[in-house]
Amino acid sequence: MPPTIAIIGAGPCGLTLARLLECRGVDYVVYERDESDISNRRGGSLDIHAETGQLALKEAGLFDEFKKHARYEDTSFTIANQQGERVFHIGQGRDAPEIDRILLRQILLDSIPKEKVRWNHVLKSVTRDQDGHHILQFTNGSSASGFKLVIGADGAWSKVRASITPAKPQYSGNHYIESRINPESPYYPTMVSKVGAGTLMCLGSSKEIVTQRQGNGSYRIYLGVTVPEDFVRSGVVNLADTESAQRLFLSSEYFGNWAEELKDLIRYSEDFRSWPLYYMTPETVSWDSVPGITLVGDAAHVAVPNGEGVNCAMADALSLASKIATYGIDALNRAVMEYEEDMFRRGVEHIKDGLQMATLIRHKDGPDALVSFFKTAMENAAQPST
Ligand SMILES: Cc1cc2nc3c(=O)[nH]c(=O)nc-3n(C[C@H](O)[C@H](O)[C@H](O)COP(=O)(O)OP(=O)(O)OC[C@H]3O[C@@H](n4cnc5c(N)ncnc54)[C@H](O)[C@@H]3O)c2cc1C
Repeated sequence: MPPTIAIIGAGPCGLTLARLLECRGVDYVVYERDESDISNRRGGSLDIHAETGQLALKEAGLFDEFKKHARYEDTSFTIANQQGERVFHIGQGRDAPEIDRILLRQILLDSIPKEKVRWNHVLKSVTRDQDGHHILQFTNGSSASGFKLVIGADGAWSKVRASITPAKPQYSGNHYIESRINPESPYYPTMVSKVGAGTLMCLGSSKEIVTQRQGNGSYRIYLGVTVPEDFVRSGVVNLADTESAQRLFLSSEYFGNWAEELKDLIRYSEDFRSWPLYYMTPETVSWDSVPGITLVGDAAHVAVPNGEGVNCAMADALSLASKIATYGIDALNRAVMEYEEDMFRRGVEHIKDGLQMATLIRHKDGPDALVSFFKTAMENAAQPST
């Protein structure tokens, strides 16, 4: 007998869902395209929020384990202008601790039986047999079927999505160019004294430089630039050639007229890679429920990064697992319909927040618009509720 549920994707959403199903005694299998648990080199640090990501981890019985690795000291957030002047700061200790993406994945993987994850299974498509049952087709030529529910947790470029909706993500107009400064760098001591813990976001001329300290003390640098979708493919820049990438981003077209202190972040950066940023338009995150199949996380509602993506994805996992527990495996379609209603609301809000944040971040006049947005939000939060 095949397991009741197939989850496609062992990202934070798919694995949180797997763990929650494990806790509720529901049989499942996870198919993941990575070759093994150590083959995904995607790093970065994620802040996990109380009412979404943390709540899912609590329900999964993993919050104590999470806290062992969570970095409350890295929650400080500073905004600067392109001259490097600090104009806004929220101190350490916010209830949004950081954790490295790789560590979060490991905590989740360690909490489910190893044989539940089938590595090296790249989903190619989902087809249906004459009885309407879904069949998973993998690029290695194998297939799998007989599940009562297929769940696409396979991220922005989901292969499950086409069985549910024709909607596709669209390009936002912006890229993040990611790089890093490691402890071995001659610039590292300066970095520690000038930037320190947490996140520094420098804004100006509709561009941004973000630095984010990681669990091992290294720094990720993100250059936010407005460029064509095929920026890297077109050959304008060869990111594998560190010196030419540095030259391009230090030119007057990009960050040439920014403060020397901020340009040092590019001068000492290595390992450049690009993240073209995509999002689903809000109106596409709504569909008539399709029996036996659904989407969670970025597969359902990828948004321009706004610090909520992983939290929203983990909230989806919690919502779906709870509905499945409520209705049982004989009423999965009802569980999915109720989950989707809840997810549509959350997903649309998340996408709209991402778009609003992108507009504020890329404001031509620099950080003032974003700072006043945060100040107003903080004032509103401090008002006693009536
Ligand atoms: C540059 C950047 C920075 C970000 N920073 C933050 C941040 O600071 N905070 C935050 O909350 N969010 C951030 N996000 C968003 C966040 O990464 C996502 O919202 C989150 O990872 C979504 O989780 P997910 O599990 O739904 O999808 P993913 O993390 O994309 O996981 C999908 C999984 O499915 C697998 N997969 C994909 N295709 C297939 C296939 N065909 N077959 C089998 N497996 C497949 C993938 O290998 C992966 O393991 C950022 C995004 C970007 C691009």
